[in-house]
Amino acid sequence: MTGRPEPIYKRVLVKVSGEALMGPDAFGLHQPTVDRIAADIAATHSLGVEVAVVVGGGNIFRGVQVSSQGVDRATGDYMGMLATVMNGLALSAAITRQGTQARVLSALDMPAVCETYTRPRALAHLDRGRVVVFAAGTGNPFFTTDTAAALRAVETGCEALLKATQVDGIYSADPKKDPTATRFDRLTHDDVLHRDLKVMDAAAFALARENALPVIVFSIHEPGSISAVVRGEGRATTVAS
Ligand code: UDP
Repeated sequence: MTGRPEPIYKRVLVKVSGEALMGPDAFGLHQPTVDRIAADIAATHSLGVEVAVVVGGGNIFRGVQVSSQGVDRATGDYMGMLATVMNGLALSAAITRQGTQARVLSALDMPAVCETYTRPRALAHLDRGRVVVFAAGTGNPFFTTDTAAALRAVETGCEALLKATQVDGIYSADPKKDPTATRFDRLTHDDVLHRDLKVMDAAAFALARENALPVIVFSIHEPGSISAVVRGEGRATTVAS
Protein backbone atom coordinates (compact mmCIF):
# COMPACT_ATOMS: atom_id res chain seq x y z
CA MET A 1 0.00 0.00 0.00
CA THR A 2 1.37 3.39 -0.99
CA GLY A 3 -1.56 5.39 0.35
CA ARG A 4 -1.98 6.92 -3.12
CA PRO A 5 -5.32 6.49 -4.92
CA GLU A 6 -5.60 3.65 -7.41
CA PRO A 7 -5.82 4.54 -11.12
CA ILE A 8 -9.34 5.39 -12.25
CA TYR A 9 -8.72 4.26 -15.85
CA LYS A 10 -7.69 0.93 -17.38
CA ARG A 11 -6.67 2.32 -20.77
CA VAL A 12 -5.85 5.89 -21.73
CA LEU A 13 -4.51 7.80 -24.69
CA VAL A 14 -1.98 10.55 -24.00
CA LYS A 15 -1.57 13.31 -26.58
CA VAL A 16 1.93 14.78 -26.46
CA SER A 17 2.46 17.74 -28.78
CA GLY A 18 5.71 18.27 -30.61
CA GLU A 19 6.11 21.51 -28.66
CA ALA A 20 6.15 19.53 -25.40
CA LEU A 21 9.18 17.55 -26.60
CA MET A 22 11.08 20.75 -27.42
CA GLY A 23 11.48 21.66 -23.73
CA PRO A 24 13.20 25.05 -23.39
CA ASP A 25 14.62 24.88 -26.92
CA ALA A 26 13.17 26.67 -29.96
CA PHE A 27 13.25 23.62 -32.23
CA GLY A 28 13.61 19.84 -32.23
CA LEU A 29 13.95 17.39 -29.38
CA HIS A 30 15.23 18.32 -25.91
CA GLN A 31 16.44 14.95 -24.65
CA PRO A 32 16.06 15.59 -20.88
CA THR A 33 12.45 16.65 -21.52
CA VAL A 34 11.78 13.61 -23.73
CA ASP A 35 13.24 11.40 -20.98
CA ARG A 36 11.11 13.06 -18.27
CA ILE A 37 7.90 12.54 -20.28
CA ALA A 38 8.91 8.94 -21.10
CA ALA A 39 9.54 8.27 -17.39
CA ASP A 40 6.06 9.58 -16.54
CA ILE A 41 4.51 7.39 -19.25
CA ALA A 42 6.43 4.36 -17.92
CA ALA A 43 5.34 5.20 -14.34
CA THR A 44 1.72 5.41 -15.50
CA HIS A 45 2.07 2.05 -17.23
CA SER A 46 3.56 0.53 -14.08
CA LEU A 47 0.35 1.47 -12.21
CA GLY A 48 -1.37 -1.15 -14.38
CA VAL A 49 -2.80 1.32 -16.89
CA GLU A 50 -2.63 0.51 -20.61
CA VAL A 51 -1.14 3.52 -22.34
CA ALA A 52 -1.38 4.66 -25.95
CA VAL A 53 0.32 7.86 -27.07
CA VAL A 54 -0.19 10.16 -30.05
CA VAL A 55 2.77 12.44 -30.77
CA GLY A 56 2.64 15.74 -32.62
CA GLY A 57 5.30 17.20 -34.86
CA GLY A 58 5.11 20.95 -34.37
CA ASN A 59 8.62 21.06 -32.83
CA ILE A 60 10.01 20.06 -36.24
CA PHE A 61 7.49 20.92 -38.89
CA ARG A 62 3.95 22.14 -39.52
CA GLY A 63 2.28 21.79 -42.92
CA VAL A 64 0.78 25.26 -42.90
CA GLN A 65 4.26 26.81 -42.53
CA VAL A 66 5.34 25.82 -46.02
CA SER A 67 1.99 26.17 -47.75
CA SER A 68 2.72 29.90 -47.95
CA GLN A 69 6.22 29.27 -49.34
CA GLY A 70 5.49 27.51 -52.61
CA VAL A 71 5.06 23.93 -51.32
CA ASP A 72 1.44 22.84 -51.62
CA ARG A 73 -0.47 22.24 -48.40
CA ALA A 74 -0.89 18.48 -48.83
CA THR A 75 2.86 17.98 -49.40
CA GLY A 76 3.61 20.17 -46.41
CA ASP A 77 1.23 18.08 -44.31
CA TYR A 78 2.97 14.86 -45.35
CA MET A 79 6.25 16.50 -44.23
CA GLY A 80 4.53 17.29 -40.93
CA MET A 81 3.43 13.68 -40.55
CA LEU A 82 7.03 12.53 -41.14
CA ALA A 83 8.09 14.85 -38.32
CA THR A 84 5.69 13.05 -35.98
CA VAL A 85 7.33 9.73 -36.90
CA MET A 86 10.73 11.08 -35.82
CA ASN A 87 9.22 12.21 -32.52
CA GLY A 88 7.50 8.84 -32.12
CA LEU A 89 10.76 6.98 -32.57
CA ALA A 90 12.51 9.23 -30.04
CA LEU A 91 9.73 8.87 -27.48
CA SER A 92 9.44 5.11 -27.95
CA ALA A 93 13.21 4.69 -27.52
CA ALA A 94 13.08 6.76 -24.33
CA ILE A 95 10.17 4.69 -22.95
CA THR A 96 12.09 1.49 -23.76
CA ARG A 97 15.13 2.86 -21.86
CA GLN A 98 12.83 3.12 -18.83
CA GLY A 99 12.38 -0.67 -19.02
CA THR A 100 8.87 -0.52 -20.50
CA GLN A 101 8.20 -2.10 -23.88
CA ALA A 102 6.95 0.30 -26.53
CA ARG A 103 6.05 0.08 -30.22
CA VAL A 104 5.63 2.79 -32.83
CA LEU A 105 2.68 2.33 -35.18
CA SER A 106 2.64 4.68 -38.15
CA ALA A 107 -0.47 5.63 -40.10
CA LEU A 108 1.80 5.90 -43.17
CA ASP A 109 3.39 2.71 -44.41
CA MET A 110 7.15 2.72 -43.77
CA PRO A 111 8.05 -0.88 -42.93
CA ALA A 112 11.80 -0.27 -42.74
CA VAL A 113 11.22 2.24 -39.95
CA CYS A 114 8.32 0.98 -37.83
CA GLU A 115 5.12 -1.05 -37.92
CA THR A 116 2.14 0.19 -39.87
CA TYR A 117 -0.94 1.08 -37.84
CA THR A 118 -3.79 -1.38 -37.94
CA ARG A 119 -6.38 -1.48 -35.21
CA PRO A 120 -5.94 -5.20 -34.43
CA ARG A 121 -2.18 -4.73 -34.17
CA ALA A 122 -2.57 -1.80 -31.80
CA LEU A 123 -5.03 -3.75 -29.63
CA ALA A 124 -2.71 -6.77 -29.57
CA HIS A 125 0.23 -4.65 -28.37
CA LEU A 126 -1.92 -3.01 -25.69
CA ASP A 127 -3.20 -6.41 -24.53
CA ARG A 128 0.40 -7.58 -24.23
CA GLY A 129 1.23 -4.70 -21.97
CA ARG A 130 3.18 -2.59 -24.44
CA VAL A 131 2.93 1.16 -24.73
CA VAL A 132 1.88 2.02 -28.28
CA VAL A 133 3.03 5.26 -29.84
CA PHE A 134 0.85 6.31 -32.76
CA ALA A 135 2.77 8.30 -35.36
CA ALA A 136 1.98 10.02 -38.69
CA GLY A 137 -1.28 11.40 -37.30
CA THR A 138 -4.33 10.14 -39.17
CA GLY A 139 -2.22 9.50 -42.29
CA ASN A 140 -4.19 12.21 -44.12
CA PRO A 141 -3.28 15.80 -44.94
CA PHE A 142 -5.52 18.61 -43.67
CA PHE A 143 -5.87 16.92 -40.29
CA THR A 144 -4.03 17.37 -37.01
CA THR A 145 -2.55 15.07 -34.42
CA ASP A 146 -5.33 16.19 -32.05
CA THR A 147 -7.80 14.60 -34.47
CA ALA A 148 -5.56 11.52 -34.63
CA ALA A 149 -5.60 11.42 -30.81
CA ALA A 150 -9.41 11.49 -30.63
CA LEU A 151 -9.69 8.96 -33.46
CA ARG A 152 -7.20 6.47 -32.02
CA ALA A 153 -8.63 6.86 -28.51
CA VAL A 154 -12.11 5.96 -29.74
CA GLU A 155 -10.85 3.19 -32.06
CA THR A 156 -8.83 1.46 -29.37
CA GLY A 157 -11.38 1.82 -26.60
CA CYS A 158 -9.45 4.26 -24.43
CA GLU A 159 -11.51 5.56 -21.50
CA ALA A 160 -10.04 9.05 -21.67
CA LEU A 161 -7.91 11.31 -23.84
CA LEU A 162 -5.24 12.98 -21.71
CA LYS A 163 -4.21 16.13 -23.51
CA ALA A 164 -0.89 17.45 -22.28
CA THR A 165 -0.64 21.20 -22.88
CA GLN A 166 1.40 24.21 -21.84
CA VAL A 167 -1.14 25.16 -19.12
CA ASP A 168 -2.81 23.23 -16.31
CA GLY A 169 -6.32 23.11 -17.71
CA ILE A 170 -8.99 25.01 -19.61
CA TYR A 171 -9.42 28.68 -18.68
CA SER A 172 -12.22 31.15 -19.28
CA ALA A 173 -9.70 33.22 -21.31
CA ASP A 174 -6.01 32.95 -22.23
CA PRO A 175 -4.28 33.04 -18.80
CA LYS A 176 -1.09 34.41 -20.41
CA LYS A 177 -2.99 37.47 -21.70
CA ASP A 178 -5.85 37.93 -19.24
CA PRO A 179 -5.04 38.01 -15.48
CA THR A 180 -8.75 37.57 -14.63
CA ALA A 181 -8.93 34.23 -16.46
CA THR A 182 -10.24 31.43 -14.25
CA ARG A 183 -9.59 27.70 -14.56
CA PHE A 184 -12.41 25.18 -14.82
CA ASP A 185 -12.21 21.88 -12.89
CA ARG A 186 -14.97 20.21 -14.84
CA LEU A 187 -16.95 20.97 -17.99
CA THR A 188 -19.27 19.07 -20.30
CA HIS A 189 -18.57 18.74 -24.01
CA ASP A 190 -21.57 21.02 -24.61
CA ASP A 191 -20.17 23.66 -22.19
CA VAL A 192 -16.99 23.78 -24.28
CA LEU A 193 -18.98 24.34 -27.47
CA HIS A 194 -21.39 26.89 -26.00
CA ARG A 195 -18.64 28.91 -24.33
CA ASP A 196 -16.44 28.59 -27.43
CA LEU A 197 -13.49 27.39 -25.30
CA LYS A 198 -10.31 26.29 -27.06
CA VAL A 199 -9.54 22.67 -26.19
CA MET A 200 -8.74 20.98 -29.50
CA ASP A 201 -9.50 21.73 -33.13
CA ALA A 202 -13.13 21.38 -34.20
CA ALA A 203 -12.78 18.00 -35.96
CA ALA A 204 -11.00 16.46 -32.96
CA PHE A 205 -13.48 17.84 -30.46
CA ALA A 206 -16.50 16.76 -32.53
CA LEU A 207 -15.19 13.20 -32.53
CA ALA A 208 -14.67 13.26 -28.76
CA ARG A 209 -18.12 14.75 -28.14
CA GLU A 210 -19.95 12.34 -30.45
CA ASN A 211 -18.33 9.38 -28.71
CA ALA A 212 -18.64 10.79 -25.17
CA LEU A 213 -14.87 10.50 -24.81
CA PRO A 214 -13.65 12.35 -21.71
CA VAL A 215 -10.85 14.82 -22.47
CA ILE A 216 -8.54 15.79 -19.62
CA VAL A 217 -6.37 18.86 -20.11
CA PHE A 218 -3.29 19.20 -17.90
CA SER A 219 0.21 20.70 -17.93
CA ILE A 220 3.09 18.72 -19.36
CA HIS A 221 5.50 20.95 -17.42
CA GLU A 222 4.41 19.47 -14.09
CA PRO A 223 6.62 16.40 -13.39
CA GLY A 224 4.53 13.26 -12.87
CA SER A 225 1.40 14.93 -14.23
CA ILE A 226 0.33 11.97 -16.41
CA SER A 227 0.46 9.45 -13.55
CA ALA A 228 -1.33 11.99 -11.31
CA VAL A 229 -4.16 12.45 -13.83
CA VAL A 230 -4.81 8.69 -14.16
CA ARG A 231 -5.26 8.59 -10.37
CA GLY A 232 -7.70 11.47 -10.53
CA GLU A 233 -5.15 13.77 -8.84
CA GLY A 234 -3.29 16.89 -9.90
CA ARG A 235 -4.46 20.12 -11.49
CA ALA A 236 -6.46 19.49 -14.64
CA THR A 237 -9.75 20.23 -16.35
CA THR A 238 -11.96 17.24 -17.12
CA VAL A 239 -14.38 17.53 -20.03
CA ALA A 240 -16.97 14.77 -19.78
CA SER A 241 -20.60 14.33 -20.75
N1 UDP B 1 -0.51 16.32 -39.93
C1 UDP B 1 -1.36 15.94 -40.97
N2 UDP B 1 -2.34 15.01 -40.73
C2 UDP B 1 -2.54 14.45 -39.49
C3 UDP B 1 -1.69 14.86 -38.43
C4 UDP B 1 -0.69 15.78 -38.67
O1 UDP B 1 -1.24 16.42 -42.09
O2 UDP B 1 -3.44 13.60 -39.35
C5 UDP B 1 0.62 17.24 -40.22
C6 UDP B 1 0.22 18.70 -40.25
O3 UDP B 1 1.01 19.33 -41.26
C7 UDP B 1 0.64 19.21 -38.89
C8 UDP B 1 1.90 18.39 -38.63
O4 UDP B 1 1.60 17.11 -39.21
O5 UDP B 1 0.93 20.58 -38.91
C9 UDP B 1 2.27 18.23 -37.18
O6 UDP B 1 1.13 17.85 -36.42
P1 UDP B 1 0.47 18.84 -35.33
O7 UDP B 1 0.55 20.26 -35.81
O8 UDP B 1 -0.87 18.30 -34.99
O9 UDP B 1 1.47 18.62 -34.13
P2 UDP B 1 1.50 19.29 -32.67
O10 UDP B 1 0.85 20.66 -32.77
O11 UDP B 1 0.72 18.40 -31.78
O12 UDP B 1 2.94 19.33 -32.31
